[in-house]
Amino acid sequence: MAEEKRQFQAEVGKLLDIVVHSLYSNKEIFLRELISNASDSCDRLRYAAITEPDLLGGDPDFRIRLIPDAAAGTLTIADNGLGMNHDELIANLGTIAKSGTAEFLSRLTGDSKKDVSLIGQFGVGFYSAFMVAGEVTVVTRKAGEAKGWRWTSDGKGEFTVSEAPEATRGATITLKLRDGETEFTEAFRLKSIVKRYSDHIAIPVSLKEPDKDEETINSASALWTRSKSEITPEQYKEFYHHVAHAFDEPWATLHYKAEGAIEYTGLLFVPGSKPMDIFHPDRKQHVKLYVRRVFITDDCEELLPPYLRFVRGVVDSQDLPLNVSREMLQHNPVLAKIRTGLVKRVLGELKKKSEDAEGNYAAFWETFGAVLKEGIYEDFERKDEILELCRFRSTHGDGWTTLAEYVGRMKEGQEAIYTITGDNLDQLKKSPQLEGFVAKGVEVLLLTDPIDEFWVSAVPRYQDRELRPVTSAGADLAKVKAAEGADDKKADEAPADEMATLIAALKLALGDKVKDVRASERLTESAVCLVAESGDMSMHLEKLLRAHGQAPGERPRILEVNPRHGLIKGLAARVKESGTNALVEDMAALLLDQARIVEGEPPADPVAFARRMALVMEKGLGA
Ligand code: ADP
Ligand code: MG
Repeated sequence: MAEEKRQFQAEVGKLLDIVVHSLYSNKEIFLRELISNASDSCDRLRYAAITEPDLLGGDPDFRIRLIPDAAAGTLTIADNGLGMNHDELIANLGTIAKSGTAEFLSRLTGDSKKDVSLIGQFGVGFYSAFMVAGEVTVVTRKAGEAKGWRWTSDGKGEFTVSEAPEATRGATITLKLRDGETEFTEAFRLKSIVKRYSDHIAIPVSLKEPDKDEETINSASALWTRSKSEITPEQYKEFYHHVAHAFDEPWATLHYKAEGAIEYTGLLFVPGSKPMDIFHPDRKQHVKLYVRRVFITDDCEELLPPYLRFVRGVVDSQDLPLNVSREMLQHNPVLAKIRTGLVKRVLGELKKKSEDAEGNYAAFWETFGAVLKEGIYEDFERKDEILELCRFRSTHGDGWTTLAEYVGRMKEGQEAIYTITGDNLDQLKKSPQLEGFVAKGVEVLLLTDPIDEFWVSAVPRYQDRELRPVTSAGADLAKVKAAEGADDKKADEAPADEMATLIAALKLALGDKVKDVRASERLTESAVCLVAESGDMSMHLEKLLRAHGQAPGERPRILEVNPRHGLIKGLAARVKESGTNALVEDMAALLLDQARIVEGEPPADPVAFARRMALVMEKGLGA
């Protein structure tokens, strides 16, 4: 087959452009990336060979070789792992399959300084080779296949693929170093880079200089098998970078050996920044499963529940059989026990860090709180434990609060833990629904994550306190003792008979556009607001579902009117005196629209709204 010329996927082209012109302060990390890929590839072949030993041919000892050639200005990284066939080569080294890539690229600003720090979090893997090389050649043969392939590119938009009869099993990557990058042929330099970034790789990495014996330059023992006292924080961090394909500082590192009925080692990390795909529909689990140091899979759904999907790392089991297939992992009792153990450890670690002033728990919460909250309704057994780990914004101060702290501040006569859900904090704080609560000093939790809607309605209580949305009509403030010195608001209200007449007139005017009209306990400043019947779907949830095309049509709400508001008092007096008329009907419609607007919803009929508004304004001028 002749040489094929192909274009990089547009996203790759964009990345390459940044890589080549990037200001990477430490270009040396290209070596970490290539060694990491080689090690992954050896791991995959070792796993495949458990069921298909012939794949190994006569070459069962995995290794990664570095072969510098100062005279030629090249550095070669060769592995005898799984290798790639023709189609894999094109897919893996011509596109980016990672979910979230497009979104990531759309965040690039064109300002190279900012972009580089973004790329720092994203990582460019294989393509980082172009930081130091003007040309990269990959010669590869997939284990078990006869044909080998050569891939070449100068990183400028195109690559070529042709047959390579000389290819051996695995991948051999040759970098033609750019002028000024020849330090990457120096043995001393290569050794120190490997020591720094790749010492934890379980596969031996060797260096073969011209005219010298080959020597192994890493420890070649899996990091998690070493004892904690022998591992430096720097080594943990490098391992995290390798295993998580991440580039930030881990927020938490958890390394332990479980002994007893089930034996396994866990080396787990909580990332310091949010992975791109954390809310992506086809996100994966990111904890790698090993059995007695043999890599099994990095996609084992059963290892951790989805609400802990931010955890990265390695679990190495003593008890699972080596030839465990991915199918066998489903409903596996050993794995189920490991999972229980892992969940306990991770939640325990979160609790520990949440109680430690130095733990910087707020940083974790701001990054992953929305994910952890899924556990409140997904993991019913641990609901209370997870609720204790949750942090909330509330009408009490600007910081985070726990539910326990909230309960400690509850007012005499306060029946429930009150919540309000919405899209953004500032808007929520100004919501008319909160007026009465604020006036009585009753704290309300301000919930702005989409997930909040779901757990709030699924979890009726925390300890023995009911959680109740302020927008539900059941929210009852009458029993809460008024603050010392607060005015008796009854004195300030429209007389009861006038209110009754007004409410009857409003009901008549609005018909089935509302479920009911009521005098409000909760309003102090605003004239009107909309609430849902307790037990009905909350208005915010309905809006969220509608945004996803899932909800039924809008349902009528209860319109609450404030008997202490000047407009309502005036209107009540007018209706009592001269009955209802066209103006009252217009005002009724305007009041309902006003309440909708405050909820972030458009008036039901914008044209009619504008017409009525103009009319009322005109009347206001005395015209
Ligand atoms: P990542 O390692 O995060 O998947 P990379 O850009 O480093 O991303 O590599 C892209 C893909 O190319 C890998 O997922 C793998 O499938 C393939 N690949 C890279 N290097 C090798 C190698 N040495 N042997 C086999 N496959 C490789
Ligand atoms: Mg990689």
